[in-house]
Amino acid sequence: MNINTISSHLLIVLLLPISLMVSAQGQRQADAGEILHKIQKLNIVGSALYVAAHPDDENTRLISYLSNETKVRTAYLSLTRGDGGQNLIGPELREKLGVIRTQELLAARATDGGQQFFSRANDFGYSKTPKETLNIWDEEKVLEDMVWVIRNFKPDIMINRFDHRTPGTTHGHHTSSAMLSVKAFELAADSSAYPNQLKYVDVWQPSRLFFNTSWWFYGSREKFAEADKSKLTSVDIGVYYPLLGLSNNEIAALARSQHKCQGFGTDLDRGEQSEYLELIKGNWPNRQKDLFSDLELSWNRLENGLTIGQMVQILEESFNPAAPEESLPLLLETRKQILELPDPYWRKIKLAEIDEIIKACIGLYFEFTAEEATACPGATIEVAMEAIARNPVPHKLTLDSLVISGLSIDTSMHLTLGELARVNQDHKWYHQATISENEDYATPYWLEYPWQQGMYTVPDPLKRGAPEDPPAYEAEIHLTLGEHNFTYTEPLQHKKVDPAIGEIYSPFYITPPAVVSFEEEVLVFADDQVKTARVKVKALQDSISGQLKITAPKGWVIQPQEFDIAIQSKYDEVAFEIKIQAGKKATSGDLFAAVIDESGKRHGYQLSEINYDHIPKQLVLLPTQTRLIQLELEKAGDKVGYIMGAGDEIPSALQQVGYEVELLEEENITAAHLADFDAIVIGIRAYNTIEWLNRKQSILFEYIEKGGTLITQYNTSYRLKTDQIGPYPLKISRERVTDETAPMKMLDEKHPLFNYPNLIEEEDFSNWVQERGLYFAGEWDERYSPLLSAHDEGEPDRLGSLLIAPYGKGVFVYTGISWFRQLPAGVPGAYRLFANLLALSQSQTQP
Ligand SMILES: [Zn+2]
Repeated sequence: MNINTISSHLLIVLLLPISLMVSAQGQRQADAGEILHKIQKLNIVGSALYVAAHPDDENTRLISYLSNETKVRTAYLSLTRGDGGQNLIGPELREKLGVIRTQELLAARATDGGQQFFSRANDFGYSKTPKETLNIWDEEKVLEDMVWVIRNFKPDIMINRFDHRTPGTTHGHHTSSAMLSVKAFELAADSSAYPNQLKYVDVWQPSRLFFNTSWWFYGSREKFAEADKSKLTSVDIGVYYPLLGLSNNEIAALARSQHKCQGFGTDLDRGEQSEYLELIKGNWPNRQKDLFSDLELSWNRLENGLTIGQMVQILEESFNPAAPEESLPLLLETRKQILELPDPYWRKIKLAEIDEIIKACIGLYFEFTAEEATACPGATIEVAMEAIARNPVPHKLTLDSLVISGLSIDTSMHLTLGELARVNQDHKWYHQATISENEDYATPYWLEYPWQQGMYTVPDPLKRGAPEDPPAYEAEIHLTLGEHNFTYTEPLQHKKVDPAIGEIYSPFYITPPAVVSFEEEVLVFADDQVKTARVKVKALQDSISGQLKITAPKGWVIQPQEFDIAIQSKYDEVAFEIKIQAGKKATSGDLFAAVIDESGKRHGYQLSEINYDHIPKQLVLLPTQTRLIQLELEKAGDKVGYIMGAGDEIPSALQQVGYEVELLEEENITAAHLADFDAIVIGIRAYNTIEWLNRKQSILFEYIEKGGTLITQYNTSYRLKTDQIGPYPLKISRERVTDETAPMKMLDEKHPLFNYPNLIEEEDFSNWVQERGLYFAGEWDERYSPLLSAHDEGEPDRLGSLLIAPYGKGVFVYTGISWFRQLPAGVPGAYRLFANLLALSQSQTQP
């Protein structure tokens, strides 16, 4: 296999011009200003790679500047897809959030003109140091992916967002991204590093590595203003682009605003603004405000490039925005020269660029759409094709054939598209096509195989680094213009028209004939509860019949375990109820469900549809399963009032084990109503997010005084809407324990918290997830007792994760323990300890 025959995702991505990116609004032809901008870019032969850890780390101001002002090919390598964060626009978390953020990064790049890459690393949550991060990521594999991206993309310069020399000052993922980037910078050029890659790519040595510093690394804007900048260079990223009608910083803000699930919509900046960089590697003899100084970015860097550079110069000077087709003769001449370039790498890239420019100058438009949004292997679909050339052309333009190899569509048309006499004639065809029985189902390639905390599994080395999968089907459009042969590609999409919106495009997906889902991701059983779970089966083909089979882990009693199913129309759904009970010997495990169709095929996938306006619709298929958790739990009191803060799933987690939970709104918080509850729990960041809560503090404290238990979960001290979070003085810090296996020491084993109604032992602190806790209390009045101590490696004991203070006849608790992660994940020890918290005021009256 050589570089010309492999169909690597990454190579496809590398050659994909930005204008092909298709959004929910469909494709748009470049206007005349944009065409000229593309011609100017054609005249630059160079590349830059920006490196950081997460979606949103990237400095869109610099990426846009490099792409639109310096006009080099620019890419962002984000080591993770940001799977560990919060979602401000919907319910998706973890791997599904990673899918959203992947698309948001692609939307940001489509705005700022960059390309996007990733590694296999995943965002497993916060870590304080690169040491912690690199214990969980597989450092070798992340480096391998970075080297792969560098050898594919061949950047002249690399830019790190973070400082590799200051571990512990920011998220461990951040510092790790910079440390690994410094290593990858050297390794990419070393033929003994990852030699398997050399079957597909050559070694590559970037010339320079920079660190993109900012005031943030100095603590404040004032400190940065005073700092010694003799070792830094700066560029003005406020430049205005008249061809695009936007300032660079406006483009950057529009790109950054694509990070909607992180709430990063931002206002648009205009005017002069400096961006600062420090040289980390490589030499830079001529320190001007030019990161590429002394590096050749013109066609002169390529053998036989000189003439092409001169031709592109003339193209730029002679371009007529009112008649872009006047540039076609010279464009075709230039293309001929590009085809003869000895350098195969730049030949491919520049050919793709000039072909896009030619397409825009002819006003060529192609569209391939399917009537159905999804289809199954074996199904027949209706495909519509449209082709039109809207500008006159100097030679005969023929559409020779349309090929969609996966769908066995191959037409030889020899249709004249753009002869002067027939300019602007729209051509449409309709075809029936059958999807092969062996076609793979669509799901993001990094989620296809089971993965671990820290790393996704991508066995095919050629898929690594790519932001997403190629489309299910692509049409190849073969054209002849004079003596030139062109091949354009266009993805098959689904198109519908919504009367309130207009055209809506979405990727076309191949799915299984049926998908199966459980309503809950986790079911928690305390003792011998019998629970009813709902299983839904949805047909994704015209009809499906067979059986739904439930497979339980050992020791569980499930009834029934089998259902006959017969669904008669596509997208219809039927629901079944099963009763689940833990038998005597039941241990926690996974419950599976699958449809066995009449031919005996098993379909055990659940389908998540991720649908937002700013990104193309995404489908994610994962095995249908729900986790059954068996735990021994005693409860004392069962009526809990819950005040929801920033949003968490604790109320339903408590309901699962039999608590009666009422969500309390402002109007329910009266002394009389609160008297009904055994405990009141305040949701995460409630004092940061709820305006009215501070006004209810006196009623809540009065509730404690009369004998109630009030449990306040973590808040941040920044934007705290009260100065009295507890009945006695208490200050919230930024202390956290991120290692979920860090030993937890009980400071007073005799305290009711560890004894009533559940006896808490060391084992109760095992199998926790993600972290121990965050935003612990930092300083507190002596009337509070800290009851747990824990610390991350190399740090002193942190005592503020759980404070208890008697107040009147009741008890107040402040706790930074991450209950909002442990309870929904079904961690048994966390449930037992939380049940004891809820019982605190009753335990006071126990003998
Ligand atoms: Zn980050």
